[in-house]
Amino acid sequence: MLDALKEAAADRAAKGSIHPEQQQHRAGGHSAGIDFFFDEVEAAAWPCAVAAKMDSFAADIATIETVLAGRAKALGAEIRRDAKVESVAQSDLGVTVFANGERYHGRWLVGCDGGRSTVRKMSGIGFAGTDPEFTGYSVEATLADTTTLTPGRNLAPGGVFISAPPGTIWMADFDCGVAHRTAALTRVHVEAVLKNVSGIDVVLKTLQFASTWTDRAQLASEYRRGRVLVAGDAAHVHSPLGGQGLDLGLGDAMNLGRKLAAVKRGNAPVDLLDSYEWERQPVAAAILNWSRAQGALIRPGYRASPILRGCRIQAPRFPARAIREHP
Ligand SMILES: Cc1cc2nc3c(=O)[nH]c(=O)nc-3n(C[C@H](O)[C@H](O)[C@H](O)COP(=O)(O)OP(=O)(O)OC[C@H]3O[C@@H](n4cnc5c(N)ncnc54)[C@H](O)[C@@H]3O)c2cc1C
Repeated sequence: MLDALKEAAADRAAKGSIHPEQQQHRAGGHSAGIDFFFDEVEAAAWPCAVAAKMDSFAADIATIETVLAGRAKALGAEIRRDAKVESVAQSDLGVTVFANGERYHGRWLVGCDGGRSTVRKMSGIGFAGTDPEFTGYSVEATLADTTTLTPGRNLAPGGVFISAPPGTIWMADFDCGVAHRTAALTRVHVEAVLKNVSGIDVVLKTLQFASTWTDRAQLASEYRRGRVLVAGDAAHVHSPLGGQGLDLGLGDAMNLGRKLAAVKRGNAPVDLLDSYEWERQPVAAAILNWSRAQGALIRPGYRASPILRGCRIQAPRFPARAIREHP
């Protein structure tokens, strides 16, 4: 075993000795723009990963949803996709939900209806946190010149952009989240944001797709109010930096599901449900702070650069290409 470790260490040392751009290993993800690499992660340690492609860590939501929906149906769950929850009322005996003019009644209700959760709002559960600093963009476009943007992650004067040729671009524009849900995501707008973030004139021949998101970070004040509980983005939202939102929601569901089942079957006291909040809310609070820290690290200006330069010194495994900066 020690021989194998030594061999791996030697291999890594050898990789570290050549210029990062010449290294064979590819970025597999990042934290605040600091890469980690595909060949440095033991993927076998993730037995539940359902990666969409063989050469990627990433699982797409559709695949995860198909797997989980199949399991739920096999256990007898009925999934209704055409019912928009409009109102929620609870009593000591149960919860009544009105959706698309129909009335549904149950002993418990779990709101998993996303960051703008109707269930959370109608149940009077608070949702406090910090306002956004940036608008994030996910873009698919055809560039007039594919060499204009340096591939990989780039800390730039106006924010950060990641270019994956030929036409995939992610960027964070530090506009306090103003453009999110207000700007028309036209080709001209995306070009203007690209110029603002990168400082480079980028011409887009066509824009196939653009969506926005922010680093708003908010946490539910309670995870349970009487017979109503919240899970997933209904309980917490934060920037997708680090890619943890869906994982966090799945953790909520795993924690709550077995407890709710035990209470419903009469195998556990109702108080057990309070432990859901005790256990899961601190995890979400930590992730929110983790995502805020990543936002701070990519913020343009004097604060981000010295820290990332520090990372270069502290962590030689994160090569210089992870912290490329533009003058
Ligand atoms: C750009 C981006 C990249 C991301 N990358 C990652 C990543 O790499 N890894 C990761 O773990 N997370 C990632 N996330 C976060 C992840 O997508 C979310 O945390 C996750 O989708 C939340 O799941 P959810 O089911 O709680 O909420 P949602 O996905 O928002 O689903 C809520 C559902 O409730 C429905 N709904 C809403 N209101 C009602 C109503 N009134 N009645 C009935 N139904 C309703 C909606 O239609 C929707 O189907 C990313 C997010 C973004 C924006």
